Amino acid sequence: MWNYSFAIPSLLVILLYALYYFYLPRIPIKMNRTFLRLLLLQCAVTSLDIVSGLADDHYTAFPIVLLYLLNGAYFIFFIIRALHFYFFTLNVFKIDYTDGQKRSLFVKIPIIISFLIVLSSPITHAIFYVDDTGYHEGPFYFYLNFVQWFLILGSYVVSYHLRDVPKRRRDIKGVYFYNTVLLAGTVLRILYPRHLLMDTFSLIAITIIYLSFENPDFYLEARSYAFNSRALKEYLDEINGKKKYKIMAFIIHNYSEVREIYGGRQMDSGISIMGTYLYHTFKKYKVFYFRSGRFVILGDENMDVEKVHSILVKRFMSPWKSNDTELYLEAGYAVIDSGKYSSSDAVLNMIISTLEVVEKNEDGSINYVDSKIMEEAAKGTEIKKSLEYAVDNNKVEVFLQPVMDALTGKLVGAEALARIRDNNGKLVPPGLFIPIAEKNGKINQLGEQVFAKTCRFIKDNDIRKMGMRWINVNLSPVQFMRSDLDQRLLSILKKYDIPPEIIHLEVTEDAMGEEGLMEKQIGNIKEKGFSFVLDDFGKGYSNISRLKKYPFINIKLDLSIVWDYCKEPDVILPNLVDTFERMGFSVTAEGIEDEKMAEAMVDIGCDYLQGYYYSMPIPMDEFVEKYGRIEKDTE
Ligand code: C2E
Ligand code: MG
Ligand code: MG
Repeated sequence: MWNYSFAIPSLLVILLYALYYFYLPRIPIKMNRTFLRLLLLQCAVTSLDIVSGLADDHYTAFPIVLLYLLNGAYFIFFIIRALHFYFFTLNVFKIDYTDGQKRSLFVKIPIIISFLIVLSSPITHAIFYVDDTGYHEGPFYFYLNFVQWFLILGSYVVSYHLRDVPKRRRDIKGVYFYNTVLLAGTVLRILYPRHLLMDTFSLIAITIIYLSFENPDFYLEARSYAFNSRALKEYLDEINGKKKYKIMAFIIHNYSEVREIYGGRQMDSGISIMGTYLYHTFKKYKVFYFRSGRFVILGDENMDVEKVHSILVKRFMSPWKSNDTELYLEAGYAVIDSGKYSSSDAVLNMIISTLEVVEKNEDGSINYVDSKIMEEAAKGTEIKKSLEYAVDNNKVEVFLQPVMDALTGKLVGAEALARIRDNNGKLVPPGLFIPIAEKNGKINQLGEQVFAKTCRFIKDNDIRKMGMRWINVNLSPVQFMRSDLDQRLLSILKKYDIPPEIIHLEVTEDAMGEEGLMEKQIGNIKEKGFSFVLDDFGKGYSNISRLKKYPFINIKLDLSIVWDYCKEPDVILPNLVDTFERMGFSVTAEGIEDEKMAEAMVDIGCDYLQGYYYSMPIPMDEFVEKYGRIEKDTE
């Protein structure tokens, strides 16, 4: 006799899941579709388990064909359910199993074999058979356990393989967790075959999946029916390049100000009302709330954006109201055509950048995204990808630009400048990737890589022989936000066994914005023996008296004021240089492009010169080739 005390409650619980799951809107992505199938399969397997069990218990009352049918169907669904748990793991890691045939064959073969054995069981009695004494397990019954173990092992292997992707850590825990529960289920199933325990363990696994990945609330904006930005990203990831679509996006005018006026709580409730209104009004389309007062309505390529626009404009004429909320708002509109763009990041960036523009559209008209804005956004996304790749794989290159002694005209130092490459191996200028790195935080790693590679260069080469006394490394203001910056730099120095005096740290005046923090940080780092250089003096708003507070040893004149002076000499720059010298700073002129400029800068008293006239920034080996040789030749 079978024991149904686990299977029947499991069936009831899974029905409850299914009900709740359908009650809220779900984003149609693969992972959710797999989960839905898992729910249905779980219902089917559990029901079949109970029904076939009952039939087996009362085998004399049923025709033998029916017994074979019920048991056969149970085993087939049993295998398909195990397979879907494995598919779910692949979905979590966004692995597409519909292509890459070779790899999927590896899984397909054992599955197909198991189907064949089950289906042939009425003749071969391999998995089970029914005779005059009832239902019996066949000699290959155990094979089904192997298939299940094989699939669980597959899940472990996949998640182990991707363990280093930081964003995935929580996901990986979830995947390990539900697979381990499944594994435990298979073992208990062997130990207590009469208790139909696998259904309960599958239910627990589904619960874990639900809690870790599938709760519809994960994809919904709080208390509304609009999807959130995570849903938008995942959905775009999935449809990009496969489907053409149109986006009608809008942003609430002056969102942060309006939020301040109405207060956060009221504004949040307004957003929730809006999301629910949009969900009900545009049932044909998908509605997303993309943070900071931005909504995205996504439809197919035939979406009538003009009509959507006119509905929205009309709606915004009246206030957004609930019991305790009444908001009068205006919006700016943008339409984005997915066109031929295939990267979801590019589309997301496009939405952000266009909405930034239309936030100021007073008349409520639509901005259509033209190809130029799209290309810009796509380029930014490309650069971001190259940056992330270079930083994460220690592939940031360091170029060196020589700095010359103004009096002797000989090499005295160099500036280390970061370089990365795009997909085609072409250099990307730092003017493009440094601001991105500062925004997304990669600048810390990038700066340390440049620092470490400069240290290695100093260790591997006798730079004094080349005539060099120091190498300058740029520090971004963002790097100063880390209070352990001094320790981090010091530990890199130690690793390469370099004295700190050789490295001069260049900072810009931007970094002096947060005065207290900056003074403290510079003080800390200086204590460790580093020297500081002020970069880009004269580029923006400069404040000489503030410089007194900082222990700079050298001021670098930005190329803009050097060029201005060379074009139209005046008394300001010579006096400035004079003042710096009196204050005890040496002065470097950047952007020297010809002999005349060099002479002019020597004349006004600069100590060091840097510019294309001497050399552009060049790779380290080229630098050694160029300056290592010269010194040797003259020796
Ligand atoms: P910067 O620190 O002021 O570096 C000098 C820039 O002027 C370099 O641009 C250099 O190639 C350029 N330059 C030098 N001589 C001439 C010249 O004669 N004519 C012209 N037109 N340009 C000249 P680059 O390498 O493109 O770097 C741009 C900026 O990016 C740097 O300005 C610096 O602020 C930033 N940067 C570069 N590498 C790093 C880094 O490792 N960390 C940080 N935080 N910033 C970096
Ligand atoms: Mg610099
Ligand atoms: Mg500079």
